[in-house]
Amino acid sequence: MPDLKALYQEVILDHSKNPRNFQKLDPADRKALGRNPLCGDQYTVYLRMDGDRIADIAFEGQGCAISKSSASMMTQAVKGKTEREAEALFDRFHDLVTGKEADPESLGKLAAFQGVSEFPIRVKCASLAWHTLRAAVQGKEFPVSIE
Ligand code: ZN
Repeated sequence: MPDLKALYQEVILDHSKNPRNFQKLDPADRKALGRNPLCGDQYTVYLRMDGDRIADIAFEGQGCAISKSSASMMTQAVKGKTEREAEALFDRFHDLVTGKEADPESLGKLAAFQGVSEFPIRVKCASLAWHTLRAAVQGKEFPVSIE
């Protein structure tokens, strides 16, 4: 039987070493900057919209392995989704990293962050990109700081 924990760690490591959609979108319809001062994570999320659908998404910046891999997997998870669908996914992701999600496996690769719930300080790292996405979707360009 495969060790799920080891598999999850591998996924996180892979995405932090080779982040997907790790670039600037130029031009972008919307963008937002997110900061997690506790850890030093800082990312800009760029969006190109097609109506209320996220046609393209990318991010750039720097931070720890958890924050970077979470941002990378988030871009893959929400590309092509509507604003409402992305928001619903954020709710479930937040439940996952705070230990409240009842069915983690149904979140696919995002389930890799389940273990974060054991480390409250890491919850901010894992959710930073999602908070930044929400700010970008809402058209808030001023920096988001989660503390
Ligand atoms: Zn971090």
